[in-house]
Amino acid sequence: MSNKRILANDGIDQAGKQLLEQAGFFVETNKAAENHLIQTINDGNFDVLLVRSATKVTASVIESCKGLKVIGRAGVGLDNIDLNSAKAAGIHVINTPSASSQSVAELVLAHLFSGVRFLQESNFIMRSEGQTQFASLKKKFGNGTELRGKTLGIIGFGRIGQALARMASGMGMNVIATDPFITDATVHVEVPLAKTSIPVTIKTIPMEDVLRNSDFISLHVPGKVNGKALIGAQEFDIMKSGVGIVNASRGGVIDEDALLHALDKGKLAFAGLDVFENEPTPREDVLKYRSISLSPHIGAATAEAQERIGIELATLLVDYFNTH
Ligand code: NAD
Repeated sequence: MSNKRILANDGIDQAGKQLLEQAGFFVETNKAAENHLIQTINDGNFDVLLVRSATKVTASVIESCKGLKVIGRAGVGLDNIDLNSAKAAGIHVINTPSASSQSVAELVLAHLFSGVRFLQESNFIMRSEGQTQFASLKKKFGNGTELRGKTLGIIGFGRIGQALARMASGMGMNVIATDPFITDATVHVEVPLAKTSIPVTIKTIPMEDVLRNSDFISLHVPGKVNGKALIGAQEFDIMKSGVGIVNASRGGVIDEDALLHALDKGKLAFAGLDVFENEPTPREDVLKYRSISLSPHIGAATAEAQERIGIELATLLVDYFNTH
């Protein structure tokens, strides 16, 4: 049994909390404000600090909290943790990179379905005009398309890119992908009723070929490349006319000026955005654009993903303190 003390400053799923408590850990889930974080950790003698994306674990927090042994990030990125300071202080850092891939992939599909049937716009207009303008709205939104049979281009073929490829293949889409570090991957398309899965191997191709040949494009890269957007005016120029693009990776991976310009020109039919350049205050012109389907960075925010994240973090912590 461990007697270690954990501050889960951005919360932790109940299943993970229970596992930790059963193993003897004390888990505090009352959030300390940024300016009280150091005092809370030191006064509470916490050994572990768990965060999601909200709490910033700065050099000053790490250097001031000598009792911290582990910092855990519930989720993928580690950009809210000062890794160099953690390393210098000998603090072990853990995260849960795979637990949310399915949830992000499903949100991408939701944005794609929304885009091809204009749901982002018709949801909005139906509320005010659905009773008086039904017939004209039926006409306005009546020329949608299907996803099946279309080509989905995936940029960044890691965990989430592959989860999306699996689901899109199951829906009858042609999947193409690009990734500078992955040459091919086999995804397993599940058919639960038949108690089977079908392996599909996808070989990656150059990014330009993905841009040129896709009907829809989804971005799953770690972030900007050398401080620059991966998709800007030049990349939009290469794409087919009428393409739909989704970004559920990181804000800034698409240049938002170029995105609005491509939408204005009709080069892009629609976009789906879960992430934005200026989070948490995205630009108003992006938020107001009718053919952009919007969500507030909720890719990983499902009950299932949060439960997997909580359980994975708990398991990692129990294992760590069993051996240290
Ligand atoms: P991953 O590391 O498994 O995959 C990223 C892939 O991108 C890697 O295979 C890498 O080789 C590839 N890559 C790097 N540079 C590239 C480039 N220039 N062109 C093409 N590919 C490139 O990461 P993941 O778990 O799949 O996560 C992908 C992104 O999703 C990350 O940015 C992550 O922060 C983000 N994410 C968002 C949410 C959300 O809530 N919307 C949730 C989880 C993760």
